[in-house]
Amino acid sequence: GLSGKLTAVFDRLRGRGALSEEDVSAALREVRVALLEADVALPVARDLINKVRERAVGQEVIRSVAPGQQVVKIVNDALVEALGGAGAPTGIDLNAPAPVAILMVGLQGSGKTTSSGKIALRLKNRDRKKVLLASLDVHRPAAQQQLATLANQTGVTSLPIIPFQTPLEIAARALDTAKRELYDVVILDTAGRLAIDEALMAEVAEVKRFATPHETLLVVDAMTGQDAVNTAREFHEKVGVTGIVMTRVDGDARGGAALSMRAVTGAPIKLLGAGEKLDALEDFHPERIAGRILGMGDIVSLVEKAAATIDQAEAEKLAARMQKGIFTLEDYAKQLEQIGKMGSLQGILGMLPGVGKIKQQMAGANLDESILKRQAAIISSMTAKERRAPDIIKASRKKRIAAGSGVQVQDVNRLLKQFDDMSAMMKRMNKLGQKGLMRGGLG
Ligand code: GDP
Ligand code: MG
Repeated sequence: GLSGKLTAVFDRLRGRGALSEEDVSAALREVRVALLEADVALPVARDLINKVRERAVGQEVIRSVAPGQQVVKIVNDALVEALGGAGAPTGIDLNAPAPVAILMVGLQGSGKTTSSGKIALRLKNRDRKKVLLASLDVHRPAAQQQLATLANQTGVTSLPIIPFQTPLEIAARALDTAKRELYDVVILDTAGRLAIDEALMAEVAEVKRFATPHETLLVVDAMTGQDAVNTAREFHEKVGVTGIVMTRVDGDARGGAALSMRAVTGAPIKLLGAGEKLDALEDFHPERIAGRILGMGDIVSLVEKAAATIDQAEAEKLAARMQKGIFTLEDYAKQLEQIGKMGSLQGILGMLPGVGKIKQQMAGANLDESILKRQAAIISSMTAKERRAPDIIKASRKKRIAAGSGVQVQDVNRLLKQFDDMSAMMKRMNKLGQKGLMRGGLG
């Protein structure tokens, strides 16, 4: 994954004070590939990379996390910002005199009709609104019936179908009905084309001028690749949009289209479609999509946690000792403590300098959190002397330590054996390091 590639790029950076331009450039080449693979449009990816470059160069290296992951965090933050910022308002704006008109626009098959049904259902159930659905799609024979069927399933009213009306006539009838029958919201579902064409744009723009909707939602398929930018630009210039609904996030698309759309229109992403079912509608969380675009949501929160909880001074002291080949049970206990502070063990080991490689070496050793806690307890039952010179721990001491920490003697044996293996390995790695083969490997 991206993180692995970045870790490789930055491995040689350990021990330096700040991220240099060259190092950041190398990392950003990987980030750029990740963005493009996630379907972020090229110009949008380029802008984001430039922003990250400005921010990353010269930034202090956080010693307790791998620098590659630190860059991922910077990229992630820029992404979240570009997607509207954490805690951005989500959902539909109903803050207007009733009936509030919502116009749904987008290419054919993007999910306009389905999303209309989903939004209607949510407004009815969650917001207790009286909603009217109207299909203005006169181009596809079954389109109006499709919306009527959806409305039926959700218990929402749909405008009766009258054949041979134009979209404008249907819109007028919908608005009129909504006013007369005191609807809170009227959702106008429009026709789409497989590709953008002038006639369609003119039709939608005309409906918009007439209906003056409070929200004009551009519905886009998350699978839309580089085209996302063109689609968004066209709709924004010719029609004007107030928000974006991104559908099919239940598929395996990474969601870069969201970033492209947002960048081009400046309009917020308001809702996500996450399935064909009518309840598959979700609020938009920039952090989640950012994580998805980078393909590493978890790492970002781990870096945040690590930066917040790991005692910098302690981590540096430990690293310095390890680089000299010194590693005692006390050091091990400190490491366990820092890991414990951060909560979940999975994924965290790899983020601690040095520990990532230990973890690789111990792959299959079946480490879990309860074992770490037990080990910390065992070490705390030892005397200072025992911690510094574990060789003196023979049978009777083992019994005492086991009783003191509530474990079996064999657990004490296992810990001592593991510690032995670790210190032997560190000595080996340290030797290699001094030969220049693994410079900074135990950073
Ligand atoms: P429209 O042409 O823009 O009105 O698109 P439709 O609403 O008719 O949707 C086209 C197809 O996409 C239908 O088969 C929908 O069931 C499907 N669809 C819509 N939204 C989603 C979604 O969020 N996830 C999935 N998996 N399918 C969706
Ligand atoms: Mg439709």
